[in-house]
Amino acid sequence: MNGATTHETIINDVKLSLKLGDITRHGTEAIVNAANSNLMGGGGVDGAIHRAGGPAILEECRQIVARQGRLPAGKTVITSGGNLKARFVIHTVGPVWYGGKNNEPDLLASAYRESLALAAAHNLISVSFPSISTGAYGYPVDEAAGIALNTVALFLKQHPGTITEVVFVLFNQATFDSYKSALTRAVSML
Ligand code: ADP
Repeated sequence: MNGATTHETIINDVKLSLKLGDITRHGTEAIVNAANSNLMGGGGVDGAIHRAGGPAILEECRQIVARQGRLPAGKTVITSGGNLKARFVIHTVGPVWYGGKNNEPDLLASAYRESLALAAAHNLISVSFPSISTGAYGYPVDEAAGIALNTVALFLKQHPGTITEVVFVLFNQATFDSYKSALTRAVSML
């Protein structure tokens, strides 16, 4: 542990930063929610986003599920941000960790990639992510951090254009430190 609470780098003119904190307070245009497939809220970051954003977000989620059914792992949908500073919430579902042999790495990479693709498709310039799947879903944080940073760095390299800022908002120091190490490795591999 090194005690740092913020760290940033530039990839293809995009500012990529890591911050220790609460994602519901972040003012990027969109924040990403680590949702459950039923999109009905829950614990962890999902509960925090719905509490801070108010009932409008849940109502939009209800309509989405009524229209298209449950959201599979690795997929995304977008709603307004309700009372949040962020104008939009991108809801994605990370994989539950079953030991790593159930396609967890691909599904986690897809959750990040599809979130950025949906943001870009809506011409959103800034996006914040939590550490998807590393809470209740049990994904080991060092492995999840590597996939998160490699996937985001590669996306930014391959899709220059709309997005100008990506922030990872990490809820505790151990998670922040894992992501900081993973970012250094991801940048050295680009
Ligand atoms: P999952 O079900 O995808 O594992 P969780 O919400 O249980 O999602 O946990 C994902 C991560 O989000 C964990 O690192 C958890 O500590 C973190 N987290 C919880 N609340 C917040 C918040 N308000 N802002 C940012 N991260 C949060």
